[in-house]
Amino acid sequence: MNRRDFLKYAALSAPYQQLLLRQFLTREAPLLLAPFFPALALAQGGTSVTELKHWSTPDYTRLSIAVSEEARFEYHKLPGRLYLDIFGARIAPGVKDLSVGDGLLKSVRIAQYNASTVRVVLDLDSIKESKVFTFSDPFRIIVDIKGERRQEISATKEVIETAKPEPVAEKAKKPKERFKAGRIRRIVVDPGHGGHDPGAVSPTGTREKDIVLQVGLKLAEKIREELGIDTVMTRSTDVFIELQERTAIANRVGADLFVSVHANASLNRNANGIETYYLNLAKTEKAAQLAAKENGTSLEKVSMLQAVLFDLMANYKLNDSAHLADEVQKSLHKKALTAYPGVKNLGVKQGPFYVLVGATMPSILVETAFVSNERDEQKLKEPEYQDVTAEGIMLGLKGYISSLNKA
Ligand SMILES: [Zn+2]
Repeated sequence: MNRRDFLKYAALSAPYQQLLLRQFLTREAPLLLAPFFPALALAQGGTSVTELKHWSTPDYTRLSIAVSEEARFEYHKLPGRLYLDIFGARIAPGVKDLSVGDGLLKSVRIAQYNASTVRVVLDLDSIKESKVFTFSDPFRIIVDIKGERRQEISATKEVIETAKPEPVAEKAKKPKERFKAGRIRRIVVDPGHGGHDPGAVSPTGTREKDIVLQVGLKLAEKIREELGIDTVMTRSTDVFIELQERTAIANRVGADLFVSVHANASLNRNANGIETYYLNLAKTEKAAQLAAKENGTSLEKVSMLQAVLFDLMANYKLNDSAHLADEVQKSLHKKALTAYPGVKNLGVKQGPFYVLVGATMPSILVETAFVSNERDEQKLKEPEYQDVTAEGIMLGLKGYISSLNKA
């Protein structure tokens, strides 16, 4: 602050002086003092930007900026460029620029703009619209860019740059009786959770991630064998995959349907039965609570997501997803009844599930049973009942595809 600035400062009202002083102390002072006290800068920015990742899909390019904790940021658009300033943050060691070149996004540059601000610059080839939103736990800033691609997406190398598990694409076997798959060529099966995320855990230690992987593997096999449709699994082993990566995989492989398989949990141990969700604003408190649980976040965050969901849903196949949910719920419940008398049909519901956000094909989330309910849990642990569950979901997909062929 020079003398003239000081005179201006002295003329201001006390609260405004305080505000400026606070701004100086938090923004300027660390910058000025950082060279002398490196520890101060570190203490100031305990928050760090830990990872940059991107996915290219036929419709959009997504950038994910992982931050070690929730951080304040600003977002600016310029011709051919977008940039974000993340405040109170440092770049973690090893985080580097990305070279993308997928016809939409040329590259992403990251720099320590000042002692406590990280700037991320996206150089663009083309842009029609962009969306910026956040995911929490871990906190990530997501930027979706839409525009006219100058090149075919297939021409880009390494489309999913850091996808840990390679999607297991297997050639469909010849079905016994040829089922007319029509325009449905590929289905993505997404067993929920995995790795360090166990999903719901029952009082006796049954983990959602293990059960849904078994059901998912059986389901993929049935789709290939019975329907003769190519299947890609988001995970076929016990690994963790971030929620936004799951639909990105589905978009990338050009999936026509997306099915996420889960098992429910409730504090009310009597709660039991089967329900199927599609993406929409939560219509009930219960749906919002379940979404919070599956999203791994708080109810408050869910209401924040609801606020941006309307925009994000521009490409979501709402009616088709509702129709798909209907067919799967109906078939799954009918099939489950043959092996589990009295199993409850909780019906089709709507909720703001992260895992369905960004899907460009009809997509649903199936809650196969409640691991928190003793009877449901016992059933779901049996390999025979897992098979019945997979069969029920497959029959629902078959019903949906058949109805498309008739239309
Ligand atoms: Zn789940």
